[in-house]
Amino acid sequence: MSVGILIDFDDTLVQTTLYFEMAREKYARYMVKLGFPLEEVLDVLDRADIENVHKYGGFLKECFPYAMAQTYDHFCNIKKIKASDDARRKVEDMGWWVFDQPPVLIPGVGEALEELSADYPLYLATKGDPSVQLERVTRSGLTPFFEKIYVLKEKTHREYAEIAGAHMLIPGSSWVVGNSIKSDINPGLKAGFNCIYIPNQYTWHHEMEEPLGGHHTLETISGVPSLVRGS
Ligand SMILES: [Mg+2]
Repeated sequence: MSVGILIDFDDTLVQTTLYFEMAREKYARYMVKLGFPLEEVLDVLDRADIENVHKYGGFLKECFPYAMAQTYDHFCNIKKIKASDDARRKVEDMGWWVFDQPPVLIPGVGEALEELSADYPLYLATKGDPSVQLERVTRSGLTPFFEKIYVLKEKTHREYAEIAGAHMLIPGSSWVVGNSIKSDINPGLKAGFNCIYIPNQYTWHHEMEEPLGGHHTLETISGVPSLVRGS
């Protein structure tokens, strides 16, 4: 039995939600220019995005760009405007743009992983579209730091317990590190891990939740090696 560290990818190691926010803002500006109401546009967009996640059975890359096109159609319908193919393609492309952005490391990530991986096995636990996530992890250059990369459909205590079981980790001596209370900290606590929460200002609002119990909070990932070593 051994000690290991499970680490989240999006908004913990690389900036992700920042790009969704940029696309959302550009989309909102365009929709307002077409005469559609800002608040309602964003509200319908968010709901369409979530519905797509359910409809397609997971966080597939289509969900966000399709939600942009669906929201455009929705408001054309309401305002009795004829939807244009060009405009629909244009708004959908604003969504696809997010997936063309190279992953940008959050400051301090390289050094922290270098230090941690020298002493502990690291496991990447990310949620999302497998083809998208694997490519993004590869492009981030972080693959060599990890014993294994997990792209999970869900992040609940079950997945964390399975990873612990597969690598003979003792959860009570091992760690979960991430920016989401809902997907990282709470399932980690439920599976018996020590948890380190590193908030990211751009965390997706659907990832907000009340913490289930005691955990550590750090401002940046740079503090993780000394915290883990000191335990
Ligand atoms: Mg995350």
